[in-house]
Amino acid sequence: MKQFACGDVVPGCRKTFTAPSEEEILGSVGRHALDDHGLAEVPPELVEQVRGRILTLA
Ligand SMILES: [Zn+2]
Repeated sequence: MKQFACGDVVPGCRKTFTAPSEEEILGSVGRHALDDHGLAEVPPELVEQVRGRILTLA
C-alpha cells in the first residue's frame, strides 16, 4: 500500500490518502487539490513533491 499525507506538502492540511498504487494516490490528490485547495491543475513541481513524499506501507 502507498500512503500520502497532504500536510507534508500543504502545511495545515490533515487529509491523508491510502491506495494500492502511486497513480491512484496521485488521482485522489488531484481531486482533493481541486475540491479543497481550489487548484484546478496540479503543477508538475507539486506532483514531484507529492511523489517524493509517498510512503510505501508493508
Ligand atoms: Zn490537502
